[in-house]
Amino acid sequence: MERLIFHVDVNSAFLSWEAARRVKNGEDDLRLIPSAIGGDVEKRTGVILAKSIPAKKYGIKTGEPVVTAKKKCPELYLAKPDFGLYAKCSRAFMDICRKYAPVVERFSIDECFLDMTGTGKIYPDPVKTAADIKDEIRDTLGFTVNVGIGENKLLAKTASDFEKPDRVHTLFRREIADKFWPLPVRDLFSVGNATSSKLERASIMTVGDLANADVGFVRRLVGDKLGVMIHNFANGIDDTPVRDVPEEAKGYGNSTTLAEDIVTEREASCVLLALSDSVGMRMRADGFLARCVSVTVRYSDFRERSHQCALSVPTDITDEIYKTAKRLFSELWDKKTPLRLLGVSVSELTREDAEQLSMFSEVDEVRERQRRLDRAADAIRQSFGADTIVRGSAYRSDIDVGKKYKASLDDGGDGN
Ligand SMILES: [Mg+2]
Repeated sequence: MERLIFHVDVNSAFLSWEAARRVKNGEDDLRLIPSAIGGDVEKRTGVILAKSIPAKKYGIKTGEPVVTAKKKCPELYLAKPDFGLYAKCSRAFMDICRKYAPVVERFSIDECFLDMTGTGKIYPDPVKTAADIKDEIRDTLGFTVNVGIGENKLLAKTASDFEKPDRVHTLFRREIADKFWPLPVRDLFSVGNATSSKLERASIMTVGDLANADVGFVRRLVGDKLGVMIHNFANGIDDTPVRDVPEEAKGYGNSTTLAEDIVTEREASCVLLALSDSVGMRMRADGFLARCVSVTVRYSDFRERSHQCALSVPTDITDEIYKTAKRLFSELWDKKTPLRLLGVSVSELTREDAEQLSMFSEVDEVRERQRRLDRAADAIRQSFGADTIVRGSAYRSDIDVGKKYKASLDDGGDGN
């Protein structure tokens, strides 16, 4: 059966969500003026996380320092990030998508894929259905999305990136030569800066040039695996399925097999911090808090042990997960048997909702501040890649634990 995939992408998500919230309260619409979501202006720190279309006209870019952006446009209006709001808006628009599609995959906080394959009897006109979804999101939630339609995820995602905002676009296979091939090769999904420079030096300037290049040549240019993949992409080929990720996960875990055995508590602490942070980041992205933390160790002779403990207050704060993990670890380890694997996981999840957020802010300002810091770090990593922020103690460490765990952290198995 021919597949039919939609990609729904919120237009300038963080900014739109803040704007929609203010409009609902009768305030001015940030989308109509030069505005941005960014860090602390008084302290002159922080970066631009999202910008309005009028701000874009001043050349303001996502990721640039707030100070630089202010120089380009002195009247730029800045609003602070509110990650609790984003989690709520993210869930709300995906819930609308779930009313239409049998299978929905959350791809990031503001993007999801809908597998509409086989829905032809209920929805004979895909473009009209996409417009209905888009309009329902706009009319009930107050922010706009683009919907891209194609026979696979790659084509759908590419289509949603065409003209914005509030639009439906198709990129069916028969439209590839017209709509896809004229695009610059650097716009192709998964072609980064380094790859596009290599391609352009070899006179591969457009997606069409890449599609029609010899695949062996492309492989020699950028490497075997990536070469085959982007050559397929340029030809509109992508078989990856839309995965229905269960909404309520049971827990989050991360473990890493160490390239060299760990023999000191200091090294172990650095790894535990990295693991706690990655678990925390995934929870925060999905809007969950956990009541239980556990730590697993595997010795060099392959014996494995784990230890867990319940928390009095559910958390998604990296530092709290880390401190608990460290305590559990010190109870587990005899401080001499070399360690081959370390793992941190959390379970007994609860939804982070508005009520809990306001409760925390009244009870404990310090915790609320930590949560905001964690979220700001997450947002920067989302824009610039996972390695951008190195947590304090890992950074100060004089031993190179980074190298030891990084080798296997990427493919490190999820505990759950
Ligand atoms: Mg978006």
